[in-house]
Amino acid sequence: MNIHEYQAKALLRSYGAPVSDGRVVLRAEEAKTAAGEMDGPLWVVKAQIHAGGRGKGKFKEPGAGDQGGVRLAKSVEEAAEEAKRMLGRTLVTKQTGPAGKQVNRIYIEDGAGIEHEFYLALLVDRQTSQVSFVCSTEGGMDIEEVAHSTPDKILSFSVDPATGYQAFHGRRIAFNLGLSGKQVKQCVALMGTLYQMFVEKDMEMLEINPLIVTDTGDLKCLDAKMGFDSNAIYRHRDIMELRDTTEEDPKELEASKYDLNYIALDGEIGCMVNGAGLAMATMDIIKLYGSEPANFLDVGGGATKEKVTEAFKIITSDPQVKGILVNIFGGIMRCDVIAEGVVAAVKEVGLQVPLVVRLEGTNVEEGKAIINNSDLDVIAADDLKDGAEKIVAAVKG
Ligand code: GDP
Ligand code: MN
Repeated sequence: MNIHEYQAKALLRSYGAPVSDGRVVLRAEEAKTAAGEMDGPLWVVKAQIHAGGRGKGKFKEPGAGDQGGVRLAKSVEEAAEEAKRMLGRTLVTKQTGPAGKQVNRIYIEDGAGIEHEFYLALLVDRQTSQVSFVCSTEGGMDIEEVAHSTPDKILSFSVDPATGYQAFHGRRIAFNLGLSGKQVKQCVALMGTLYQMFVEKDMEMLEINPLIVTDTGDLKCLDAKMGFDSNAIYRHRDIMELRDTTEEDPKELEASKYDLNYIALDGEIGCMVNGAGLAMATMDIIKLYGSEPANFLDVGGGATKEKVTEAFKIITSDPQVKGILVNIFGGIMRCDVIAEGVVAAVKEVGLQVPLVVRLEGTNVEEGKAIINNSDLDVIAADDLKDGAEKIVAAVKG
């Protein structure tokens, strides 16, 4: 689960990490009062969406002006004006995809003077099963680009959980970033705070880009992105309350209500599969036969008929879906349950696109009988290869 920048900064502030003063506004009328609560001379007006690259983004509507989603203002009036221009409009960034995201919240901050911009992140390193720090002197910009063209400018190391964070970790980052004097001390303290937050709040990712040295020579977190492990979120009511479901894909949101492992993708073939490994293999083989999957979906081992029905409804609600491949290897999952779910869903929502069903394993004969007796227009497949070939052929005509 991800949260907004202003929420992440409130969390940083509560742990004593240095961030600017700021106010969030949801309506244009609130902007002037909010901006007036800060002294200036510089205000930063920031679109709050769950995507990065806002500064270099572009609004779809001309009324927003041709600047991106992060704007500097020299007065309270100007700050309020910029907030008004962005609210309700659609920001497109490298991370939003071409559809962009509607800006429903604006964060107005006390502007900082910048000497240096750095990149800093904490994440779970699956190779070492430890929390890793990643830092670079090349901050404020596209870190993927830095990693690609100048990988030697990125320092990364993991922290042994047995000893936890130590001052030398912080000094290593400080020296790598070329910090000196009081900044080294600030860096050691800040990295300790970030590590503590990361672990206590079960984060998956914490990115500060940029971490800056201000014009007074102090470290400050100028941007903040946080992702939390959804399997641990039940332990953090305070974080759960920060969830903004308007930022989530409505299909994924619906799927999460039924505890389905569903991820929306850009392709044209909807997939209903049991088991994450088989779901990955199904996506691969669809690509191999020249098409693209519209989603990842693992209905799980013990899915009920209702769950399968919901899954099918979510797949068919996607207008990009030109065909559906049901690929079930029944181990714990019974083929007849899947078949009943598919038939029930089609009865409810109809079937406008070709459907290929491959069933194998527990109760396969019962499953096939349910499909065959249902007078659904289903194309039967014998195995994974056959299923992929048939659905791609049906979709491509
Ligand atoms: P992102 O584009 O979504 O990553 O948004 P950021 O919060 O990182 O802001 C983008 C850029 O705006 C930063 O890299 C800074 O150069 C600039 N910026 C953000 N906040 C301030 C500020 O308080 N003062 C100044 N001078 N520039 C800022
Ligand atoms: Mn940033």
